[in-house]
Amino acid sequence: MTKYIFITGGVVSSLGKGIIGASLGKLLRARGYSVAIQKFDPYINVDPGTMSPFQHGEVFVTDDGAETDLDLGHYERFIDTNFSQISNVTSGSVYQTVIQKERKGDYLGATVQVIPHITNEIKSRIIKAQKHFKPDFQIIEIGGTIGDIESLPFIESIRQFKTEIGIGNAINIHCTLLPYLPTSGELKTKPSQHSVQVLRSYGLQPEILVCRTSKPIPKTEKDKLALFCSVSKDAVIECRDMKSIYEVPLALEDQKFAEVVLKLLYSEQREANLDAWKNLVEKINHPQKTIKIAIAGKYTKLSDAYISVVESIKHAGYEYDAKTEIKWINSEDCVDDAQCKELLKDVQGVVVPGGFGIRGIEGKLNVIKYVREHNIPFLGICLGMQCAVIEYARHVAGLKGANSTEFDENCVYPVIDLMAEQKNIKGYGGSMRLGAYDCHIKKGTKAYDVYGATKISERHRHRYEVNTDYIEQLKRAGLVFSGMSPDGMLSEIVELPELDWFVACQFHPEFKSRPERPHPLFKGLIQAAVNSCV
Ligand code: GLN
Repeated sequence: MTKYIFITGGVVSSLGKGIIGASLGKLLRARGYSVAIQKFDPYINVDPGTMSPFQHGEVFVTDDGAETDLDLGHYERFIDTNFSQISNVTSGSVYQTVIQKERKGDYLGATVQVIPHITNEIKSRIIKAQKHFKPDFQIIEIGGTIGDIESLPFIESIRQFKTEIGIGNAINIHCTLLPYLPTSGELKTKPSQHSVQVLRSYGLQPEILVCRTSKPIPKTEKDKLALFCSVSKDAVIECRDMKSIYEVPLALEDQKFAEVVLKLLYSEQREANLDAWKNLVEKINHPQKTIKIAIAGKYTKLSDAYISVVESIKHAGYEYDAKTEIKWINSEDCVDDAQCKELLKDVQGVVVPGGFGIRGIEGKLNVIKYVREHNIPFLGICLGMQCAVIEYARHVAGLKGANSTEFDENCVYPVIDLMAEQKNIKGYGGSMRLGAYDCHIKKGTKAYDVYGATKISERHRHRYEVNTDYIEQLKRAGLVFSGMSPDGMLSEIVELPELDWFVACQFHPEFKSRPERPHPLFKGLIQAAVNSCV
């Protein structure tokens, strides 16, 4: 029987509930239990796909093509399981279903209300995920902070669900912050007590408190939290700031976090096998060298916008015992050649990530021209690949004025164009080419070297593609098309064989990299960057 773990947050947002939930998932997996997760987001967007990365950070894409919250990326990386459409639930998607049912007349004349119709729909999403994954444990994280008006239907649904399923089958972990007051030299527990009071006012009593803190929590303060918040003393868990997020599961394991969870859920205690993870953390903490990798993009002020790219770079670094420093470069600062050269002079590798719209494009093209001409290891992702093709067309293949029709509909050489299947699509929500598609890799290429396979599957999120009309011309000019869709119509990977590492892909490799299993294309980049230092 599946046991349910609800995770709520109090005091402030951005507590890292996702990392805490993902870490618990890891600890349960390390005990041989299966784990599924769900992220409930209280906003009205049907999914985060239409939101600006400045608002919401990265949009994480699942194999089955859902555009989801970036926390799903943490869950996939920690738990090493692929999640799906049903793993991310928003208020918008819940209301959409309920309103569609109402329009069809499914409610037989009833007044449609938050309770029971919205709450029933939320509970049915929990059950739907349970039926799909049939996990031993289902972790459900509620976005936002307790007390937010918009998360109330989710909190009410948990209250009902917990009551219906009975004691020992569902628990609530409440994550809070203990602020440190330097003037008195104290960690303060009052905000956490208040946030538990708010939770209780909705009828929810937490079983476990996970407290984010910058300093060790003294026993007296832990005991105080246990007393005032009515949780047992061993259920007050400290979650201190760590150098690396991958240390969090081990820090929580030291405090018997998973043991407490299993006890509260009347589940069998099992030995955890965390050897591989411990080795990983050992490698993270003892790098042999440091390399600097630039990410040249548009949303560089908010690193969350490229979080999976950053994590993938780190994962590949661990493999080569290298600490990877990220240099954020706003591509708009690279339009001037001298400035572009100055910004790139101290980096050993460059990633041009995905993106949308014309802003920053000329700077990206300049960055790519520079790395191509100076043999600096380069990985282009989605828009990054489209820019690499435009740059090559303009400066090597003699197609002056080449562009993407995304940026100039009437350009002379539209080397990147809207995919045929996209031409009649109206509306932006969930309408791109999304999710996993197969790709065939040509033997004897750099892509084949790193994948070691001719058939791969990768996740996509795009509307535009390399225009097939120009492929022959680009090939003649030296661009190698090393990965194509199975029907040979869609360019998936391009590369330049004479350079150490110049590879670009139409898909998003960053969604499939795992800390213990870095992605081949990131490994290729980092290996070339490491080699360039010796
Ligand atoms: N804007 C480009 C497209 O729609 C690239 C998208 C991306 O980088 N995710 O094809």
